[in-house]
Amino acid sequence: MKIPVLDLKPQYEQIKAEVQAAINTVLESSRFIMGPEVKQFEQEVAAYLGVKHAIGVNSGTDALVIGLRALRIGEGDEVITTPFSFFATAESISNVGAKPVFVDVDVKTFNLDPKAILEKITPRTKAILPVHLYGNPALMGQIMEIAQNNGLKVIEDCAQSFGARYFGNCSTCQGSCSEAVRAEIQGKFTGTIGDAGAFSFFPSKNLGAYGDGGLVVTNDDAVAEMARMLRVHGAKKKYHNEVFGYNSRLDTLQAAILLVKLRYIDQWNQGRRRAAKTYNELLADVEGIITPELTDGHVFHQYTIRVLDGKRDKVKAYLGEQGIGSMVYYPVPQDQLPVYRGAYPKLPVSDMLGTEVLSLPIWPEINISTIEKVYGSLRNSI
Ligand SMILES: *Cc1c(COP(=O)(O)O)cnc(C)c1O
Repeated sequence: MKIPVLDLKPQYEQIKAEVQAAINTVLESSRFIMGPEVKQFEQEVAAYLGVKHAIGVNSGTDALVIGLRALRIGEGDEVITTPFSFFATAESISNVGAKPVFVDVDVKTFNLDPKAILEKITPRTKAILPVHLYGNPALMGQIMEIAQNNGLKVIEDCAQSFGARYFGNCSTCQGSCSEAVRAEIQGKFTGTIGDAGAFSFFPSKNLGAYGDGGLVVTNDDAVAEMARMLRVHGAKKKYHNEVFGYNSRLDTLQAAILLVKLRYIDQWNQGRRRAAKTYNELLADVEGIITPELTDGHVFHQYTIRVLDGKRDKVKAYLGEQGIGSMVYYPVPQDQLPVYRGAYPKLPVSDMLGTEVLSLPIWPEINISTIEKVYGSLRNSI
């Protein structure tokens, strides 16, 4: 039996009747653009996350672009970010006219290394854009402290981290951020810590729609107002456009589906954590790999190991022969992509991780025997 890297079917089976009823309600109402479900979802998701404003948009990428612009980031500005992410992160910065400045990642969390941020700050630096990669909260204590001390905005890329919470317990952080900053953000959901957060509802994400969708969240009224304008062609009042915006609304059908799914997200994220724990326990006796830390608040969008000694591609090929899917997120760090034409010198940690990371099959309902099969094959492959 083949094991895919992601199986969305069991989740659909669980909520099929509710989702179909929700879709039907929208179809019967004929209110397809900005129907009442959009507002209801925005209210419920804001309440869930504990944030003042949630603005539904067309994708996670648009959430980043609109979030950056709502924070007034654009031409001539520099935004410090991680090289080790999906290209939408840096692309959004470039597309608003700003310059991505890449800082290497911390090898344990795969996320922005706060120690490296300070030396990249210039008079043009306007913001820091951390990514909570694979569902693991970035080292936000130190990041927020640096931002506060240097007058920088923080916009969080939460495309992979819906439901993840910061607990300031990472062993690399070692409590080196100030007590006051840590106490202030302790236990908060990712996306609600910085000035704005950007979420994706791409179907494979932890809270996935059945098409594209995204969300901007913020506690700042002015940022929220600007984001609301930008998603509808820069108009507060219809046909009275004030800035150049976008057509980037959250689809009503997707909002109706997300309203159903939001009620299950905790259960599903717990399922992912349980799977990660099982993997970690089984894989503990396999040499030549490094398993991820099971930090509090991590929601395991991906379960990603490091395969050492240059064996990653061999292991991946072997798993493939056994009918087991696996993925490499991401083989080429953003700063080294052809689009930037060699403008950036290589950063050693992200460059190394690109050759080592391997994401194994994970979804909320994955069962132990499936995980055992992946483990067995992985053991044989090394
Ligand atoms: C998926 C993803 C995005 C983009 O989200 P879309 O909804 O596909 O536009 C941005 N950043 C990261 C880290 C992602 O994983």
